[in-house]
Amino acid sequence: MPSLENPDFRRALAERIRYYYELGIYDFFRRESSAESAPQGRPTAVASAPELREEMAPRKSVVIEKPARNDVFHGLNSKPEHNVSDPAAALQLIRQDLGDCTRCKLHQQGRKQIVFGVGNPHADLMFVGEGPGADEDAQGEPFVGRAGQLLNNMIKAMGLRREDVYIANVVKCRPPGNRTPERDECDTCSPFLMRQVAVIKPKVIVALGAVAAKNLLAISAPMSELRGRFYDFMPSGARTSDPDWQGAKLAVTYHPAFLLRDPRQKGEAWKDLQMVMKYLGLKLPTSNV
Ligand code: SF4
Repeated sequence: MPSLENPDFRRALAERIRYYYELGIYDFFRRESSAESAPQGRPTAVASAPELREEMAPRKSVVIEKPARNDVFHGLNSKPEHNVSDPAAALQLIRQDLGDCTRCKLHQQGRKQIVFGVGNPHADLMFVGEGPGADEDAQGEPFVGRAGQLLNNMIKAMGLRREDVYIANVVKCRPPGNRTPERDECDTCSPFLMRQVAVIKPKVIVALGAVAAKNLLAISAPMSELRGRFYDFMPSGARTSDPDWQGAKLAVTYHPAFLLRDPRQKGEAWKDLQMVMKYLGLKLPTSNV
């Protein structure tokens, strides 16, 4: 096994990590060695993607600075927005990092643009849907169509304005025909949502619909079981620099598009929102959505 003291090995490792950064892969973990999985003499220090287990020969055509002793591993979990205290600036860095994203197949299935998210970077309340629809794809903003209008009314009924909250989706590109985003698409895109959450540090996240809820909570259950309670939520894989933020409370309610199809459920959604309002200390109005 090459030693970390070996400059060629360190350079090759740094180069490989930089390559993964360019792909948008930041999270690595250290695999514990064992007699079965890591026979003596094989590198085990860094391995989350299979490629990291390949031999790492130095590419002599690439010139990189000689890393300081711990620089190779410093930043394995580092992201561009880390150490940026202003949430608006941090969100911009995440958006820049996302770039003209081609990480999942949704980039080539008719999206017009990436729908990153909108709202107050300091919001106490965040709404998360499943993905952009046609109106959102056209305008580049989440929840701007009929469902968006209903969400605006829901926010207003809570005594807030749309610009007070932050709104995003699990996937940032429109699935063709408004189909449900697939597992691999959610898995690829949601780390960026997690980073948005880690930057905004909301007190409460409201998952709009079962798809958002299942992706955020990593549990599969009917809406009737998901609703009506708070879950403790800490964005997976993301890191916050604020030791005072211990994560958000997450509540689940119906997606506004579902409420448009079945307005009888608005009363149930209003109960969910009242639970959130109570937690946030918002005054409960007498009218409903
Ligand atoms: S859905 Fe997300 S991961 Fe997929 S291409 Fe769009 S921005 Fe990239």
